[in-house]
Amino acid sequence: MTIDRIAVLGAGTMGNGIAHVGALTGLEVRLIDVSEDQLRSAMRAIEKNMDRQVRKELLSEEEKVAALGRIRTTSSTEEGVRDVELAVEAVPEKAELKYEIFSALDRAAAEGTILASNTSSISITEIAARTGRPDRVVGMHFMNPVPVMKLVEVIRGLATSDTTTEAVLELARRMGKTPVEVNDFPGFVSNRVLMPMINEAVFCLMEGVGEAEAIDTVMKLGMNHPMGPLALADLIGLDTCLSILEVLHRELGDDRYRPCPLLRKHVAAGWLGRKAGRGFYTYDG
Ligand code: NAD
Repeated sequence: MTIDRIAVLGAGTMGNGIAHVGALTGLEVRLIDVSEDQLRSAMRAIEKNMDRQVRKELLSEEEKVAALGRIRTTSSTEEGVRDVELAVEAVPEKAELKYEIFSALDRAAAEGTILASNTSSISITEIAARTGRPDRVVGMHFMNPVPVMKLVEVIRGLATSDTTTEAVLELARRMGKTPVEVNDFPGFVSNRVLMPMINEAVFCLMEGVGEAEAIDTVMKLGMNHPMGPLALADLIGLDTCLSILEVLHRELGDDRYRPCPLLRKHVAAGWLGRKAGRGFYTYDG
């Protein structure tokens, strides 16, 4: 199966990155969001990020213009998915919202269209069960920032077919990524391992073991991590981190995944990380 046209649902942090890389791969991209404002700011972000690639001579001005021309935005899911071979969902990490969206996608998309979720933790098998095509539902978990990060975790739900898995593995390679196939368990591999570390760093901060900078510096210099866990949490979005930990805690039934109360407080205060200008650190612009 050849994939030439994709829809990306949700034009936030991840959606704009997936659209960016898809368009540079030569795919026709329909970028869909409920918010027109979000679509405008996603296009601005994509252009700015491509400009950075032009300055670094990773991309020519002509390639940038052509790629931008391959992205069409719309607030209508029906219109956006009508003629695509693959739809990638990247809306907030809320199970009920994803279930609703997948039943809508199932109604709106052509029979052969593959429906992928960029979820960080929610069961692909449960998402697929909301559709009449569970064999064509799969997890395609890109990493943030999508244009930079090489990994795509490809998650097979219980009913995902070999044909579907192979099609998205192949597409991920075309997009210049290294796909790794994993099975459907809460948080998959990436967040099953990462989120407990981030949560523990927040407990260290709450208990006064160290200031944010101290905690991050220990992990950067001591463990050779390129970013400290608190800065990484700010990049991911603290609401997303909390949602993932809630899935791990609920689904695995183990208190070691209990979200730190300080993380809950930050989310309640709207201090969601970089996208809000403030998280464990403050950000300008
Ligand atoms: P985000 O909050 O930045 O963006 C979500 C977007 O979805 C918003 O623009 C919102 O307007 C839009 N949206 C909400 N309801 C919608 C609907 N019904 N139809 C269309 N659009 C809708 O979130 P994000 O950080 O981009 O995360 C998206 C998904 O990717 C989540 O499942 C998250 O777990 C996953 N993910 C996030 C990261 C990360 O580092 N942020 C990394 C990997 C995976």
